[in-house]
Amino acid sequence: MKKLVVLSGAGISAESGINTFRDSGGLWENHRIEDVATPEAWQKNPDLVLDFYNERRKQALSVEPNAAHYSLVELEKHFDVQIITQNVDNLHEKAGSKNVIHLHGELFKSQSTENPELVYDIASWELKKGDLCELGSQLRPHIVWFGEAVPMMDIAIDITEEADIFVVIGTSLAVYPAAGLVHYVSAGKPVYIIDPAKPDITFKKNMIFIQDKASTGMEKLKNELRITSDV
Ligand code: NAD
Repeated sequence: MKKLVVLSGAGISAESGINTFRDSGGLWENHRIEDVATPEAWQKNPDLVLDFYNERRKQALSVEPNAAHYSLVELEKHFDVQIITQNVDNLHEKAGSKNVIHLHGELFKSQSTENPELVYDIASWELKKGDLCELGSQLRPHIVWFGEAVPMMDIAIDITEEADIFVVIGTSLAVYPAAGLVHYVSAGKPVYIIDPAKPDITFKKNMIFIQDKASTGMEKLKNELRITSDV
């Protein structure tokens, strides 16, 4: 089976009702990134950061995957599909995708502030002050904040280098290092980019731009790949 690797961003979850922050004037659900998604924000105002991610968790529990997420599950019948997502929601898993790695962390996990390798599941929506890891230190959201290293990046690069087909969905390709992954696709392998807005990158010969939202863009991709929908 050919290996199809997907890099997804906030745009794939837009039709499920989760806003991207770039489409909301640079704010993420009315918050400045600096106030809620940086290590400095955590130092300055941990209550606000905990509240922000508690709200994101509540929202994620109230929405469902959309047709684009399900199309990626369907592609598993035809390809060895590996998803690399920048999203912190769990909609790829909820749709049934088998191989998902989260570059920027996961909403439904927490990590120790003392040892980031201690990671725990969050069963529902709430992470509170006083929730401690086994070492006795406060738990924080298991999110890669702006300015932090991206521990899954090396694995993502290895997966990208093996891709026979690379698909980019719903990402502005503006957040690094994730955006740099397209440069690791082997020469001559096709890169499909699905987005209503053309990303501000230099398009190479192997890049095919499908200007559309994720759900209908995925239908066009399946046509390109000659896959007839059996849903
Ligand atoms: P982004 O940089 O990946 O940009 C969003 C992209 O989605 C834009 O290019 C936009 O044109 C496109 N888009 C908008 N509607 C779309 C649709 N219906 N179908 C397909 N594409 C669509 O993402 P961002 O919002 O700038 O977020 C960057 C980071 O912020 C993420 O990598 C993540 O860590 C975090 N974030 C996560 C979520 C989530 O988990 N759902 C939501 C917002 C932000």
